[in-house]
Amino acid sequence: MSNNRDAIVIAIDGPSASGKSTVARLAAQKLGFNYVDSGSFYRGITWKALREGLDTSDSQQVVALINRIDFVCFLQDGAVEFSIDGEEPGEQIRSQPVQEHVSDIAAVPEVRVFLVNMLRETARFGSLAMEGRDIGTVVFPDSPFKYYLDADPEERARRRYNELAKKSEYNDVSEVYDSLARRDHKDTTRKAAPLQIALGAKVIDSTRMNAEQVVDVILEDIRLAGAKA
Ligand code: C5P
Repeated sequence: MSNNRDAIVIAIDGPSASGKSTVARLAAQKLGFNYVDSGSFYRGITWKALREGLDTSDSQQVVALINRIDFVCFLQDGAVEFSIDGEEPGEQIRSQPVQEHVSDIAAVPEVRVFLVNMLRETARFGSLAMEGRDIGTVVFPDSPFKYYLDADPEERARRRYNELAKKSEYNDVSEVYDSLARRDHKDTTRKAAPLQIALGAKVIDSTRMNAEQVVDVILEDIRLAGAKA
């Protein structure tokens, strides 16, 4: 599955703004693992497609794009980053246009095959905490450390709004709520690798938990597995 069989993989899935990034980043930092934000890969392809003026709902155009781009992963400050045709998109992947189109791109099966392979290969850099929508179901289904993180939709909208407030692209929490609901709907109902709870995943409702508390659950599992080994 990857070319580093000794790498430990923590797979964290869940809907948008459920706290996956904060938890995965913190767990990686505490364990000295690499952090991988798989959503940023899907956003990167979307950013590139929009920049080239493609119609993101036309899967033929999108497939042609992934066949011609040079997508390269590298390690930077404990996180796996990427460049596309030599350029790093940076914060542009968080823009509202990318946000609104990414679920269309992520529903194209060829895009998923392409990125699933890229994501699996990131284990060559060592152990990792990867977050996304299909990490425990498709990318690393054999990992013993699979988690499904959730939180009430109102709480998720509030968290995302607080993160985005500075960019003022949304007027209020209800707009963020609607945008998250649209994305959740597309992500859970698409044919290719819909968001699902992976077999054997531990479900954590973080509505009333902070990131540290969620990370403690993960660290305890890893500690126990180590103790058993
Ligand atoms: O996690 P984030 O919100 O940045 O993900 C952006 C989008 O990328 C999601 O809404 C989803 O459509 C797609 N995605 C996916 N599979 C993943 C990660 C993200 O389909 N593993």
